[in-house]
Amino acid sequence: MASNGKPIRNYWLTRTSAAVRNGGLRRRDIPPGEVLCFHCPAKCCQYIALPIDRPRTWEGFDTVRWFLLHERTAVFVDNGQWYLLVYLTCKELRSDGRCGIYTRRPKICRDYETDICEFEENAVYDQFFETAEQLEEYAEAILGPRSGGSIRSPRPDPLKIVETAEEPVAGKVTRPGCQV
Ligand code: SF4
Ligand code: SF4
Repeated sequence: MASNGKPIRNYWLTRTSAAVRNGGLRRRDIPPGEVLCFHCPAKCCQYIALPIDRPRTWEGFDTVRWFLLHERTAVFVDNGQWYLLVYLTCKELRSDGRCGIYTRRPKICRDYETDICEFEENAVYDQFFETAEQLEEYAEAILGPRSGGSIRSPRPDPLKIVETAEEPVAGKVTRPGCQV
């Protein structure tokens, strides 16, 4: 699916959704002069987020559903823009958390500065889909049932009413498992 003609930038440079403090380190906790990235699990090197067209038809939703059928994918919506999120660690991220090609890192990484990065934030999104089933349910709510039948499970038959047990006979003691 095309990225709707916009240049791809690091999602966090464009995000508008509310931020949630993650309870971890804050920028102000880092001693002056220290590099913020040395105190971070390299959050920004562990995923890619690509803008995608907003699905408006069953065919469009079917394409997004295909994304979600793959491992390590999710789809989120921020301020009306849909994104494909892929949880992938950059091959150049070293085991010590540093960039293995720092002086040759891509522009998208160079443009991402620590004063606006996700170091102390997690995001909340307008919508977040982790499974194909979640997306289908949303699509059905927007578009109505797909021709060929709903994806929802049929309504189950009501449970049978349990018959009333026999009235106990006076003087006779019964215990579970007792045959006399
Ligand atoms: S730029 Fe921000 S999110 Fe990325 S490694 Fe450095 S501190 Fe972490
Ligand atoms: S190239 Fe370097 S800075 Fe860019 S994502 Fe990979 S490890 Fe991170």
